[in-house]
Amino acid sequence: MFEKNRSASLSQIIFDLEKSVDQLPIAEKPTDIVFGEGSPDSEIVLIGEAPGYNEHVQRRPFVGRSGQLLRKTLTQVGFPPEQVYITNIVKARPPDNRDPFPEEILAYKPYLDQEITLINPKLIITLGRFSMAKFLPDVKISQVHGRLHKVRWNGQIMYVLPMYHPAAALRSTQMLTAFTQDFEKVAKILIWVKEQSELIVDLETISAILL
Ligand code: URA
Repeated sequence: MFEKNRSASLSQIIFDLEKSVDQLPIAEKPTDIVFGEGSPDSEIVLIGEAPGYNEHVQRRPFVGRSGQLLRKTLTQVGFPPEQVYITNIVKARPPDNRDPFPEEILAYKPYLDQEITLINPKLIITLGRFSMAKFLPDVKISQVHGRLHKVRWNGQIMYVLPMYHPAAALRSTQMLTAFTQDFEKVAKILIWVKEQSELIVDLETISAILL
């Protein structure tokens, strides 16, 4: 799909989301919605938890303190924020920045699913345990962070790389080191993932010729 079409489709999702605000939890008015941002043609989609105060005010994901760390780290490892796509599982700010409730995650799920389906990234990076649980429900982030997972999502093979949330990385030097080291692997992992999908395409071509 060309970037123009993807942008138009993303605008349609935002429009639908803002229109449905009466039926959605946490948000009271369309301007409470904080949607994803970045390149609609990105090979990488990063998924956080929910907007905080700064995100709510600016109506942009990851622009507060943890967002600045995320954006700086992305730039350092060769993926400037504007070249990837950054979004959240919940699109409005939970009161007092509490953890999102399962019913809130469920209510915003169709919109996140549409973003993922439309962008169809080669690699999904989850930030923190809530977005990780969408793809990897039975794992502990301390055991799997920085390790690539191949999952079946909506009938499709997806590659998911769970990472610590940048807010956790701001809490200790040890977490910051782990967070940075995990991000340093992204470029290599993306190359590997792309080689796998080329292999699959090749195998499909071969079997199509043989059949
Ligand atoms: N934390 C998140 O998970 N998302 C944001 O957009 C900001 C902070």
